[in-house]
Amino acid sequence: MSERVLVGAGVGTGVSIAPAFIYRSERYVPWDSEAKGSTRGLLAIRAALADVAKEIEEARAETDDESADILDALKLVLEDQSLMESIKVRLADGANSQRAVMGAFKLAAEALAQLGEYFAERSNDITELGERVIDKLTGKEDLIWPTDPFVLVTDNLGPLEMVKLHKSSIVGLVSSLGSPTSHTSILARGMNLPTVVSVSGTEFIQSGEQLIVDSSSGQVLVRPDQLELDQYSKAAQDSKPELGLSIEELNLPVKLYANLGSSSEVDAALAFGAQGVGLFRTELLFLGEKTAPSLDTQVLEYSRLLEQFPDQVVIVRVLDLDTDKPLPFLKLTEKGKYANRGFQALLSNPEALITQLTALSLASKKYPSAKLWVMAPMVSTAEQAVEFVSMANQLGLETVGVMIEVPEVCEPDVLERIVEAVDFLSIGTNDLTQYTLNHDRMDSPLPVSEVRSPEVLKLIERVSRACVKAGKPIGICGEAASDLVSAKLFIEYGVTSLSASPALLPSLARALRL
Ligand code: PEP
Ligand code: MG
Repeated sequence: MSERVLVGAGVGTGVSIAPAFIYRSERYVPWDSEAKGSTRGLLAIRAALADVAKEIEEARAETDDESADILDALKLVLEDQSLMESIKVRLADGANSQRAVMGAFKLAAEALAQLGEYFAERSNDITELGERVIDKLTGKEDLIWPTDPFVLVTDNLGPLEMVKLHKSSIVGLVSSLGSPTSHTSILARGMNLPTVVSVSGTEFIQSGEQLIVDSSSGQVLVRPDQLELDQYSKAAQDSKPELGLSIEELNLPVKLYANLGSSSEVDAALAFGAQGVGLFRTELLFLGEKTAPSLDTQVLEYSRLLEQFPDQVVIVRVLDLDTDKPLPFLKLTEKGKYANRGFQALLSNPEALITQLTALSLASKKYPSAKLWVMAPMVSTAEQAVEFVSMANQLGLETVGVMIEVPEVCEPDVLERIVEAVDFLSIGTNDLTQYTLNHDRMDSPLPVSEVRSPEVLKLIERVSRACVKAGKPIGICGEAASDLVSAKLFIEYGVTSLSASPALLPSLARALRL
């Protein structure tokens, strides 16, 4: 398996594979030595504004309609008379040209930010526009991009920087900040550039390391293994949304569901023919935040998801906290194996769990035709499974299950009690493999094929057959679900669904058709 899988919000549908090129945007206000408020300063500013406007015009000629609208709006800002007046006032007050430009753009950005949340995002574009004008003024050299295909890994990228990349060999974009609805993301979608924004852990990526950017699932695989490279290379080549293939129409022995990390990936899931969602990881709502996401924020996100899947199963997993990514607003405990992961970590933070389950219940009431199933990760005893089901039921959630990710819950007597308590089970093969083989997946990567070690397969078979006997659905949602050899074995054991990155579903469907 890849060394690390980083998660974020995917933009668009594609997959790209290339080495990382790291670019951290620097934000600073340079000084020049020119005399206060000189006419020379004003002329230079006019020339810099015109240069940036020309760059935008050039980029506009090569974009789609939506991107062109964004670029037109940016150009209008550059030509705005009140902006020029604001610059002149500052020059007359004695500011040098950089300060005058920075001050005027800052004022314009602040005015926009005050109009509310949507405009706040746009106001960053104006700040970036000012920085670009200053770059021109100071003659700061443009970066030299690699000539070979590369994935740009950055903290943040404004729309103008995005535009400059148009002619480079960029094939994918990963940023630690940003949102799927920002102008940069819209431009990236217009360029058909596989993009994942709001990614935690980009600091772990080294320049030149091989990356797979899977915008359909919001995942970035760092140093993938050969199996992953083969799967995703195929997906990158042939799994464009215009597949001419309806998974629904193929005669498949199991349901094929999508693994998603945010509602921004729903379009990709639908385009690739997902028959539902087998794993909606909710970590992204929490990661990188200083305070817990509010009930309203969560209801909105879950509603966006459920709205798009009428009559289909959508399995949402409650927060899977990992000590790798501690959150400032959640308590950690030191006691017990798996104490700071998944359901056990939530038990130490009951208010977070109750808010999340309440939000899911409210979203489900808004979109009752989607079949919402809710599950808890890293459950390690039968008592925990019983407790989770009871909490979720009390909060109005009807279909409740747990993930099988640790060997302890595969012990026959524990398993029997769990199967009896839940409505469905889902096997997380990534964790089940590492914990069964006693191999830390953070320390060194484990090939996906290790799931076929006899010790692990024995557990998967036992869990699957127990569910079949009880007439309860059993899914596989770890990476092994998309490994064809493993998938066929799981189907023999009786699993009812396989869940994988949307981009991998078409090739899996073709291979599994009866
Ligand atoms: C798994 O462990 O297989 C799984 C799906 O969970 P995650 O990869 O999010 O830990
Ligand atoms: Mg897991």
